[in-house]
Amino acid sequence: MASVPATMKGVIIEKNGGTEVLQYKTDLPVPKPQDGQILVKNDFLGINFIDTYFRSGLYPPPSFPYTLGREASGTIASLGSSNTLDFAEGDKVVWMDVGAYAEYSAVPAAKAIKLPSSIDPKIGAAALLQGLTALTLVREAYPVKKGDWILVHAAAGGTGLWLVQLLKSIGANTIGTASTPEKIELAKKAGATHMLNSSSEDIKAKVLELTSGQGVAAVFDGVGKATFDVSLDSIARKGSMISFGNASGAVPPVTIARLSPKNLRLMRPQLFGFVSTREELEYYAKDLFGFIEKGGLDVRVHEVYPLSEVARAHNDLEGRKTTGKLLLDPSK
Ligand code: NDP
Repeated sequence: MASVPATMKGVIIEKNGGTEVLQYKTDLPVPKPQDGQILVKNDFLGINFIDTYFRSGLYPPPSFPYTLGREASGTIASLGSSNTLDFAEGDKVVWMDVGAYAEYSAVPAAKAIKLPSSIDPKIGAAALLQGLTALTLVREAYPVKKGDWILVHAAAGGTGLWLVQLLKSIGANTIGTASTPEKIELAKKAGATHMLNSSSEDIKAKVLELTSGQGVAAVFDGVGKATFDVSLDSIARKGSMISFGNASGAVPPVTIARLSPKNLRLMRPQLFGFVSTREELEYYAKDLFGFIEKGGLDVRVHEVYPLSEVARAHNDLEGRKTTGKLLLDPSK
């Protein structure tokens, strides 16, 4: 194992705001792994929409300076003094925690998983957080059954493409939405049964038409503010509204009585509520790796951006210019 340097490249924010608050540095101190932690030399960093929430202040960071980023793949460079599970220096891992936008991250061993040698580190970083989100949504938030009609917003996005592919494997009928013909084509190829153009079509009317006036059994809605009402209107009696994100802004407070005319369930899940224990993380990661190793599942990488161009990546994601996963290369 190469020796660990004293300083590294990384991105910090010292206040909330637009992409101008992202500061690329080349002289940040390399963290020291504490008890129970491993030091990972990151290969690829996954960008997730949540990174933009912590940057903008929609979700306030606990303190400043703050390092964004929730997941990465990499190699273990060193171990904390104890409680590092069965990890060893040189192991290839993927991990989900905080502080990923850097060349090195000290993360709790319990938040890392060994990456099978059959999976490329680029694919590992691209798949982890969004793949696990989609898996837990279709298994636990609303356990999807063969033949169910399901509505997925932003179906060509990172999480959306995972949802579409998993729903196809279950045998559900997926109605997806996306804002451009190119995105619509991509989600169709990934397995959406029907795609609707969210820029030009009446989503509620089309959903009711496709479902013989019944509506869908569940909506997986990561768009939030802009789609909440149309999502509720598109659900069948006794259906489930799974509101799992805020890409268009936070959903305003909801009057609970709105659920009663159709006996709807409303859930606002977060991934870390489903993979909270070590057992849960290992269970779902094993399934995720299994899906990838079996093949037939496309882990689409939109672009690997140099870490120094993180602002361009955030602008592209928030500007709805991307499909699939955005990654950062921490060495550039
Ligand atoms: P995506 O790759 O899906 O990008 C977001 C997409 O949302 C855009 O491409 C765009 O697709 C659509 N969109 C609609 N309106 C807007 C808007 N006003 N601004 C920006 N985008 C918009 O991102 P992710 O896969 O990273 O995340 C998708 C959602 O899932 C986010 O809300 C995220 O927070 C949530 N999420 C939640 C998790 C949880 O644990 N609860 C875990 C992971 C993700 P189009 O142009 O086709 O409409």
